[in-house]
Order: sequence, then structure tokens, then C-alpha cells
Amino acid sequence: FSPPDTDSATRSTDQDALHARLSASRLGYIPDPWAALFLSRPQGVQNRPGLINVGTWLRTRSVDLLVEEFIARVEGGGKVQVLSVGAGSDTRFWRLATGPLKDRLAKYIEVDFPEITSSKARSIWKHARLKVVLGACKLDAGGTALHSEVYHLLPFDLRQPPAALGALLNLDAALPTLLLAECVLPYMPPEAGGALLHWATAGLGLGGERVPVGVVLYEMFGLGDAFGGVMRENLAARGVSIPGTLPSLHALQERFEAAGYTQSSALTLQDIRTHYVPRSETERVATLELIDEYEELDLVLRHYAVAWASKGLAGEGEGEWGL
Ligand code: SAM
Repeated sequence: FSPPDTDSATRSTDQDALHARLSASRLGYIPDPWAALFLSRPQGVQNRPGLINVGTWLRTRSVDLLVEEFIARVEGGGKVQVLSVGAGSDTRFWRLATGPLKDRLAKYIEVDFPEITSSKARSIWKHARLKVVLGACKLDAGGTALHSEVYHLLPFDLRQPPAALGALLNLDAALPTLLLAECVLPYMPPEAGGALLHWATAGLGLGGERVPVGVVLYEMFGLGDAFGGVMRENLAARGVSIPGTLPSLHALQERFEAAGYTQSSALTLQDIRTHYVPRSETERVATLELIDEYEELDLVLRHYAVAWASKGLAGEGEGEWGL
């Protein structure tokens, strides 16, 4: 008998996210020509149930919009650096690097466990369509890391002190920096997530305390109620532990305040679906597939949130950086 390898169960959640992205893009919820390139047999992946597709659409669009808005808020059209922690097989870099904001990226760094980064590096190396977006690039650290001028992929266990991460990153102390953690912090002890958020406001270990910093998170929360209990049990049955989930939307924002951010907001996916999606987009999505589990959809969407915060961003306090 050996104890369950909870890290391997945690890593397996990346495949869930990737399959969900592939399904949502095939069905027309989100444009993602890149997701299939990170799978050896994309044709073997079945489409996901409607509620997963809707959740993937809302989360991906919301995080995309917040990233675009952060870059737009940087004064003088200057460059930014993006640090995506627990990035898994995320494709956002390729979307950004082939879109209108591509010249605004000074650096885009993705970090995850070495098992995940080496598999991602292999996919990039194998597919000319992915590689050509990077320009000249090289594999490093036994194939667990990959570097190009803008894009960098690095192995790191995020439960270690963020100063150790900072030492690997070669960030620019003068550039506005956006930290992305999409469905990652719940899998880590709360202190590790808090330390990462605080490290960003404290100047990323570079002494750049006056440089604008933003953070965008997407995560599950409030698993203390009956439905949340079912979600927690489903994850536990797969060996996935979620020590970093917070009890409420309010707690998500309090964590930002504790870490020194001066502006913060959080919305559930249900709030976003009801109040923030333009009518034309809601109507378009309603034609994509028949959804008959609306009650369950509401319950699920109420347990997921997009939260964002900033410090030192232009126009802070005069109109929100937000959705
Ligand atoms: N951010 C991606 C997305 O939204 O598609 C992947 C999300 S997946 C649910 C969670 C990711 O966090 C996995 O790739 C996992 O390996 C990574 N992760 C969790 N804990 C980590 C840790 N301690 N160190 C590095 N990566 C971690």
C-alpha cells in the first residue's frame, strides 16, 4: 500500500481544463485553434457536458478581458510582463501573441510542475504552428524548460517561497506585471497562495514597489454548503486535495487586501453570466447546444469566481479595471 500521490492528482486537473477548452472551442463557445496541439489524440476527447462548456466560456472570456484591460491601462502603450502560475496547458499566450496586443508583451512566463512543463515543451517543439509564434527558442533544464525572446516555460513547485521563483524568472523591475493564477491557488496551502500574492505587491523581489502590479485569479470557493460538499467529495475521490479554497467571495477579496493590493473586485461566474455578458453574446451561445441542466448550472457557477486586484495601476479609483 502506498499513499495516494496527491501531486499527481493535482496535475491531472490540467487535462480536465485542456479537454474542457477543446470541447468549448469545437462547439463554438471560444475560439481556440491551439488547444488540440497540446494533446496527442485530440480526436479521442469527447465533448464535455453543456454546463462545463458554459463555465469554460465564461471563465476564459472573463480572464481574457481582464488581461486585455490590464494591458490597455498601462500608461503610454508600454510593455508588460505576464507571469502565469500553474499555467498547465493554457493557450492564452498563443492567443495574445497572435492578436492586436502582441507588441505589448515584453515577457510571458508560464510556471508549473516539471511533469507538466516538460510535456508542454514537447508539444511546442513538435508543432511548427506553436513554435513559429515564439520565434527562435531553445529547450533547457533537461527538456523541462523552454525559452524564447518573449515566452518562457519553467518548472517550479509553487509551494516553495516565491523568492526562489523570483530568482529563476529574470523579471524586469521597471515593467508593469500581471500575475495570473487560473484555477491554481485552491490546490495549494493558503499560506503559499498568500505569499505569492504578497510577493507581487512587494515588488516581485526586485525592489520595484512602485511599478504597477495586477493579479487575476479564477477559482472555486464556498464549498461548505451542500452542493460544495459534493464538489469537494468528487475531487477527494480522485485524490485531489484543495486546502486553499476560501469560504466566500468576500474572503477572496480580503486576501487581496491582506497582500497589499489597493483595488480589488470579485464576481461569481453566475454574476458574470447574468449581468456582464452582452445580450448578443448570450444569444449566440444559446444557439450552440441545448442545455437542460439549468438548475445545476446555477449551482456550479455560484461556486466559481473570477477575482482581480491591482496596485499602482493608472486610473485606479477612477473607474474600475474590470469587466
Ligand atoms: N491554469 C490552467 C488552466 O486554467 O487551464 C491549468 C489549471 S489546472 C486546474 C491546475 C494547474 O495548477 C495544474 O497544471 C497543476 O499542475 C498546477 N499546480 C497546482 N499546484 C501546483 C504547485 N504547487 N506548483 C506548480 N504547479 C501547480
